[in-house]
Amino acid sequence: MSEDPLTGTTYQPFWWEEFPRCKSEPRPIPKEADVAIVGSGYTGLSAALTALRGGKSVVVFEAAEAGHGASSRNGGGVGNFPFKLSYQNTEKMLGIDRAKQLWLEGKASVDYLEALLEREQIQANFIRSGRYVGAHKPNKLDYLKAEADTLHSRLGAEVEIIEASQQSEHIGSSFYYGGRFNVRDGVIHPAKFHQGLLERVKTAGGLIIDGTSVTSLNREGNAILVRTARGVMRAGQVAIGANGYTDGVLPKLVNRIIPVASQIIATEELPEAQVNRLIPRGNMIIDTKRTVHYYRASHDGRRILMGGRPLLKNSEASDAAPYLRNFMLKVWPELEKTKITHAWGGKLGFTFDKLPHIGMIDGVHYACGYLGSGVAMSTYLGHKLGLRMLNDPAASTALDGMNFPTMPMYSGNPWFLSIVAAYYRIRDAIG
Ligand SMILES: Cc1cc2nc3c(=O)[nH]c(=O)nc-3n(C[C@H](O)[C@H](O)[C@H](O)COP(=O)(O)OP(=O)(O)OC[C@H]3O[C@@H](n4cnc5c(N)ncnc54)[C@H](O)[C@@H]3O)c2cc1C
Repeated sequence: MSEDPLTGTTYQPFWWEEFPRCKSEPRPIPKEADVAIVGSGYTGLSAALTALRGGKSVVVFEAAEAGHGASSRNGGGVGNFPFKLSYQNTEKMLGIDRAKQLWLEGKASVDYLEALLEREQIQANFIRSGRYVGAHKPNKLDYLKAEADTLHSRLGAEVEIIEASQQSEHIGSSFYYGGRFNVRDGVIHPAKFHQGLLERVKTAGGLIIDGTSVTSLNREGNAILVRTARGVMRAGQVAIGANGYTDGVLPKLVNRIIPVASQIIATEELPEAQVNRLIPRGNMIIDTKRTVHYYRASHDGRRILMGGRPLLKNSEASDAAPYLRNFMLKVWPELEKTKITHAWGGKLGFTFDKLPHIGMIDGVHYACGYLGSGVAMSTYLGHKLGLRMLNDPAASTALDGMNFPTMPMYSGNPWFLSIVAAYYRIRDAIG
């Protein structure tokens, strides 16, 4: 009998092999700083870098190790359309002008990321290799066609409809009924990007205090007292970038964020020619299912990374790995004997209106709710937070002034996810 491909799987991110998490010696907490940031992911570090470049003193507090959250764990897909609402529904909700403005900020976020990498000289294997959105049912190709027309006419977006007979250019599988190719999307090495950002923040004079959870924030005169188990700091301004890891530090924030687990598996190294055949352009692949899958080749073109949000009741990576592998085999049965070397997960931040949010609660800035598409958007909104610290009018966004909804009785425990998952599975099966 052959060995189970999941025997010997390491349950930690593949990316951490090259960029392991490191906890520093506990640092003393300074008495004061212009800016305190909660969370050391892309949101927090991007805010920190912009504030530092504008001359502020900045301290970043991180409960675990720097980059412990989604920013060093994600799939590295970089998308111009990072919203979970369809464009049509965004128009119904916000009207044509605001919807257009908002969706153009998706493009702006990717342009900002690209410019930041260039300006800060961060090498993170970013390539605009595109994204293939596979139609999992024939009627979904009609949906993708209609959406492509709207994206093209309203936003001038570069999207192409790919008939099933042509899709081998984007995926070496006949699993989908055709799809849409988002020409300007891309992929990045997420942990390498995080590491680059972290180094730039440190070099610019930012102080990273890891292993230190912020437990409360209270206004005192013109300042905010940032309390931790290891001491208190006075900050002129505070920004929270905790997204799916948001805890009780700001109760009005935790009851607006829905933490959702997302997981990824990585295969063992495969022959480069095989990976090239399975994903010929090295693009990201997602599909039209509500229980979405996202997958790509690793940055070195040697492995397949298959991610998804199975919304399993018990959302550990060890539970999700067999589910993700089964899906991978539906797409590529030839990987039956391929070993799974890594499986891991992390937490996304969802919101009740399916939009990201940036704003201020009780005098504290925040940006969050990237709905699984935050690589570019969190970096962009983090930058906007930094501009807010500098009172720069360029801090404005199409998300300003938007109501940030919660649900009665919700306080951060998403008890309803397994019901949503069951509903999604039924809808996916119907089409
Ligand atoms: C498995 C997975 C796959 C994904 N794939 C993609 C993808 O392909 N494309 C894409 O665009 N997006 C993807 N995402 C989403 C993307 O990674 C996130 O949107 C983005 O990283 C959010 O960054 P952040 O800085 O806001 O939060 P995070 O990176 O999650 O950082 C939040 C940090 O805050 C810290 N924290 C929380 N509370 C406190 C406190 N009280 N005190 C101190 N520190 C605190 C946490 O420890 C954590 O380190 C994925 C996410 C996951 C988990």
